Amino acid sequence: MRFPRIYLDLLAESGAEDLVRRIGWPDPEETAPDPGGLDDPVGERGSTGSPLVLRKYADRVILLVTSRCHFYCRFCFRSGMTLEPTLEEIERAVATIIDLARTGVREVILSGGDPFVLSDAFLAQVLSLLGGVPGLSTIRVHTRAPVHQPDRVTPGLASRLVEASPARVWVVLHVTHPAELHRGFDEAVAHLRRAGIGLLSQSVLLAGVNDDPLVLAALFRGLYERGVKPYYLHHPDRVRGTARFALPIERGRTLVRRLRGLVPGPAMPAYVVDLPDGSGKVPVDWLEADGPGAWRVERPDGGSLRYEERPAVPMPEEPSAR
Ligand code: SF4
Repeated sequence: MRFPRIYLDLLAESGAEDLVRRIGWPDPEETAPDPGGLDDPVGERGSTGSPLVLRKYADRVILLVTSRCHFYCRFCFRSGMTLEPTLEEIERAVATIIDLARTGVREVILSGGDPFVLSDAFLAQVLSLLGGVPGLSTIRVHTRAPVHQPDRVTPGLASRLVEASPARVWVVLHVTHPAELHRGFDEAVAHLRRAGIGLLSQSVLLAGVNDDPLVLAALFRGLYERGVKPYYLHHPDRVRGTARFALPIERGRTLVRRLRGLVPGPAMPAYVVDLPDGSGKVPVDWLEADGPGAWRVERPDGGSLRYEERPAVPMPEEPSAR
């Protein structure tokens, strides 16, 4: 658990303190048996020879630079990961990426954990190492710092990101709820935009947090109006111990249909599900019913997969009246 003071204060300003309890406070189900959960819900482990480099697509790889975050979201699919690579370990990982570049990698995604927990100097060194990857055209940095620790996103950090890399830098902001579009978020976004960094967003659809068309509309409209293009709305992954955030695919589809009438087209994210076999994300619209709680989907590589929803969670028994 980690609760940055600034995040608590900013939520308190809008009367949304309850959000912290819902997404950051542990729940007893996290240590209970969870047969519907998966250890590697998006099938990303062991995809390259390096523990820091993950590859699911031909043209891009993920570079894990830390497992630390400013705040620990209880729904995170990497919540069990622990790593704190040294610069030498990252150098070795970049050597792996240089090898992979021969097979078509053009983009590196910095992820973790939150890359912005690292110092400006360390991040600049990572970006500069990536400058040695032949043919690298873009670097994406995924972060929730503007939400949880907005004072971390300074003009200095923004300019280091641009100056340290010959590749085009995009920052993908992970935002869960419109209450997270607070004044600290606005300042962080302004610093990144002034440096000329392109901004996208990702959100996870979470039962009891944002599974309401009006909440989603406020979130995506708010991002769009701030110059952040809503990019993905993720169906929740089957992370062990997170059944409280799960909702059926059909409910997600209904919410997204309602959303369509509430926000402008450019503010609509793609509603996707990350397939557990590691073949990547596909639009939820690609899923075709294949029995109760099951779907058939054509994978991006042309194969076919049966996707099973998380089984319904039995409700705790009511104490008997005495
Ligand atoms: S900030 Fe991102 S990586 Fe960190 S716990 Fe939240 S979702 Fe996971």
